Amino acid sequence: MTAMPTLFVSHGSPMLALDPGATGAAWRAMADKLPRPRAIVMVSAHWTTTVPAVSTTAHPATIHDFYGFPEPLYALHYEPAGAPEVAEEVAQLLSEAGLKVGIDPARGLDHGAWVPLRSMYPDADIPVMQLAIQPRETPAHHLAVGRALASLPQSGILLIASGSLTHNLRELYPEGSPVPDYAARFTDWMTEKLAANDLDALLDYRHQAPDAQRAHPTDEHLIPLYVALGAAGDTAKATRFHHGFTHGGLAMDAYAFYA
Ligand code: ZN
Repeated sequence: MTAMPTLFVSHGSPMLALDPGATGAAWRAMADKLPRPRAIVMVSAHWTTTVPAVSTTAHPATIHDFYGFPEPLYALHYEPAGAPEVAEEVAQLLSEAGLKVGIDPARGLDHGAWVPLRSMYPDADIPVMQLAIQPRETPAHHLAVGRALASLPQSGILLIASGSLTHNLRELYPEGSPVPDYAARFTDWMTEKLAANDLDALLDYRHQAPDAQRAHPTDEHLIPLYVALGAAGDTAKATRFHHGFTHGGLAMDAYAFYA
């Protein structure tokens, strides 16, 4: 049986839900390759809290957390069952690792969660729960959150972190525009450090990566990656399964981390 990796996906614009293109195809191909998960833990950049929090919602609603997009996007719904028991298990593991944990019994699925899931598991037949990120905390904190959950992949649970490898919304350009140098430099650096599992460099990316500030004026879209990396354990091996840019410099890269 194929081992269950953890994943990081760059979810791009909400418009991907209507036009998934090459990115959606890469997500789907990865899902098709994996063992069928018994549940999915979704770590989205769009759920932010001060301490780690889990959703115990039994029937999570689709959250349309974006503004000014075409009407058909608001008509889309993705409504798998929730995974309250898995959420309790996640809360327990975090707590055993000495982390504070919040419980949210009403949280739905934000677009960072449902846009990729809709491509990966279009039948919405796998239960999903969300785990929040803490934008005021460091990459090391998020790695620790992941490490606390390293037993999940072995128990058939798929952890997907959803953010963006670069995320500067002030520098979006029309489709087909050249990739700005800063975005290419930052992405190349991350690719190299992830391939080498160079944790010292990755945890200090803010100081060591070229153009870190410009690639991530705020880093809530990058830090989910550290949860996925941590949950694959300390010998995690990164495999990039999708690479590309949209809107100039918005990187669409996706990674699988194998223990
Ligand atoms: Zn986003």
